[in-house]
This record gives sequence, structure tokens and C-alpha cells, in this order.
Amino acid sequence: AAEQAPARRVLLKLSGETFGGGSVGLATDVVRRIAQEIGDAVRQGVQVAIVSGGGNFFRGAELSRAGLDRARADYMGMLGTVMNCLALQDFLEQDGVKTRVQTAITMGQVAEPYIPLRAIRHLEKGRVVIFGAGAGMPYFSTDTVSVQRALETHCDEVLMGKNGVDAVYSADPRTNPDAERLEHLTYTDALVRGLNVMDATALSLCRDNDVRMRVFGLEETGNVTRALLGEKIGTLVTT
Ligand code: UDP
Repeated sequence: AAEQAPARRVLLKLSGETFGGGSVGLATDVVRRIAQEIGDAVRQGVQVAIVSGGGNFFRGAELSRAGLDRARADYMGMLGTVMNCLALQDFLEQDGVKTRVQTAITMGQVAEPYIPLRAIRHLEKGRVVIFGAGAGMPYFSTDTVSVQRALETHCDEVLMGKNGVDAVYSADPRTNPDAERLEHLTYTDALVRGLNVMDATALSLCRDNDVRMRVFGLEETGNVTRALLGEKIGTLVTT
């Protein structure tokens, strides 16, 4: 018999801004809609891993400017990401999708610890794996973690869901009418031109390891499913 093509496996990054709908706390209507869109792709055979951001609760850098110790503030930020994971897990399960949450800071009552081989096994079984608590290390971002988790669990692509923009532009399209929409971009371009894609640590990790990434807008209905299925929306970023 002909060999079956390996299933598409992707890592979706959802920022805290998405979970919070732009404010503090959870925009449950948004999370429910995104969960349903993820479910649509999973039912079509895509293996989906997710990294949740946490800026809708705390950002370590902001708390540190307000006087908290940076590392402790970062741990608060990481704990916030776990609440987002649980919310997404709940809506996915309500939609009939099997899920596991794995956290980089162990909290046995709430989630599995991060065990990469086990995460891969879950993905192979069609379970959505949601990674929480960032890297478990202060001074890192969930963008960087997205790239690291995608590499370690052998994802084909990182999908960076964005709010307020539908692609990478040469300048901020919300303030600059001459901003050019980019179909394709290299990591070196993004770093050198200071384009607002991800932080520099995440970009250089991508560049050094030849990661394929798509930056797309989450707000248009159906876009999450489209990105997960591999449609060419937004901006493709490569080495
Ligand atoms: N964070 C961290 N280490 C990590 C990931 C996250 O210290 O590996 C902390 C950091 O304080 C960050 C917060 O968690 O501000 C929330 O994550 P992030 O800002 O990346 O979320 P997003 O911007 O996607 O909402």
C-alpha cells in the first residue's frame, strides 16, 4: 500500500491580548470562537499544539517598572498564562476536542508537567496540547517559547496569531498610510528593519533553526482554521 503522507503538525501562538480581547481578564466569547475554529482543523486531521501568552493578566516587564522584582514578576506573568490555557482547554473540550495542558512549572492538580515525548504522543493521538507557564524561566517571552516548543515537538510551522493586523507591514498600518503589506519576509529582514513580528530572541531562534512561520490576523472569522490547515494567509517568514 502507498505510504500515507505524515499529518500536518503546527504550533499556534495565542497572545494574552487575544485571550483578554484587549483588556484584563478573559474574553470568553473570543476564546470560545477560537476553540471552535481549532476544533474544525483538528477534525480535518491537523495536529495542533498551542502556546498561550499571558499579557491579559500580567507582564513581568510592566510589574517590574512598577517596582516589583523582575524575576518574581515574570513568574506572575507565567502563572497568568496557565489560566488562559485552562480557559481554552475548557472550550475545546466542550466542543468535543480532546486536550492536554502541559506546564513548564509543575502544578499536578491542574496540568501535566511539560514532557516533550508525551506531548508528541498526545499530538499523534489527535489531542490538542496546550503549553502553559512559558519556558518556566524569567526573562523569556511566550513568543520564544512558541518557537522552542515547535522545534522540540517537530511542528512543520509556527502560526503567530495577531490582533489588529492581518499580516506583517513595513510600518504600522494603523498610523502610517504608506505601510506596505509584506507577503514574504526573512528573519534577518525582520531583525535588521526592526519589524514588529516577535522579540529578537524569538526571531534569532527561528533564523538559527530554519523555522517556517506564518503571521496572520486572528480576528477575521475562519482565519484560525485557515492558518491551521495551511492556507497562505498573512505573511510567511523564513530564514
Ligand atoms: N514569561 C516569562 N518567561 C517565559 C514566558 C513568559 O517570564 O518563558 C512572563 C513574562 O513576564 C511575560 C508574561 O510571562 O511578560 C506573559 O507572557 P507574554 O508577555 O509573552 O505574553 P503575551 O505577550 O503573548 O500576552
